[in-house]
Amino acid sequence: MNSNSHKNSKKLGQCFLKDKNFVKKAISSANLNDEDIVLEIGLGEGVLTKELAKVAKKVYVIELDKRLEVFAKEVVKEYPNVTIIWEDALKVDLDSLDFNKIVANLPYQISSPITFKFLERKKGFDLAVLMYQYEFAKRMVGKEDTKEYSRLSVAVQYHADVKMVCKVPPTAFSPKPKVDSAIVKLIKKNPDYQVLDEKTFKNLLKALFQHRNKTVGKALVNSAHELNLTREHVKEFIEAYSEEFDFKERVFKLPGFEIGELSNLLNKFISKLPKLEQ
Ligand code: SAM
Repeated sequence: MNSNSHKNSKKLGQCFLKDKNFVKKAISSANLNDEDIVLEIGLGEGVLTKELAKVAKKVYVIELDKRLEVFAKEVVKEYPNVTIIWEDALKVDLDSLDFNKIVANLPYQISSPITFKFLERKKGFDLAVLMYQYEFAKRMVGKEDTKEYSRLSVAVQYHADVKMVCKVPPTAFSPKPKVDSAIVKLIKKNPDYQVLDEKTFKNLLKALFQHRNKTVGKALVNSAHELNLTREHVKEFIEAYSEEFDFKERVFKLPGFEIGELSNLLNKFISKLPKLEQ
């Protein structure tokens, strides 16, 4: 492999799974049967694809790197129930494909956007079994009042029940990544709490977790711009709802449902602002 092609492989997160035990672990966690239609992101050399194709009715694989065509040909010849889509997974309209499960050893550089693309798919999905960097996985499953609790934890857990299946060492891949990985299982659910406006909720998460160790009140004032409000408006908001919400609590201690409540209070406040001031 020349140095350019090596750089490309790195950029594409090409660490291929070599240890069959983890392939088996991913497959068994997905509880696959012959009715399932599976989406996989990233063909690689087709190790995971082949195992998926053996048990599922159909497998769609989205792969960006045409250099992997030799592997694609071999896989499709042996397993006609596999369809390869040569595209950037972030650009594919996931509602145009019919699948109910997702199983993938993800390219880590797109972990966050691709996960939200799955979670926000209009048609939903039953479950996903996905490989991430271990540190990222820990933030996905993080609970309030722990050091891993983050904007990612709240946003992911709003859409899905999330479980860490197992940690995966670098030796399971070739080439070996520098960090540990983990298999995570997501079961899509209807949110446990109601949020009136998901855009406000998202902005609020960003605003709060930029200052996760501060009190909610301080975090909101410091991040007023993330809420498209002036600091004065945020101060008015805090004053107006201080009976209903404890703005003195630290951000990292707030469970998701309380952030949902805060988001709804914020919507109420914004709706009362004269149009010109909003
Ligand atoms: N499934 C294989 C395995 O387990 O060995 C490969 C996994 S490897 C971590 C990630 C794969 O995703 C690579 O084949 C890479 O070329 C592909 N990839 C990277 N970015 C992508 C993107 N934006 N859209 C689709 N595929 C991508």
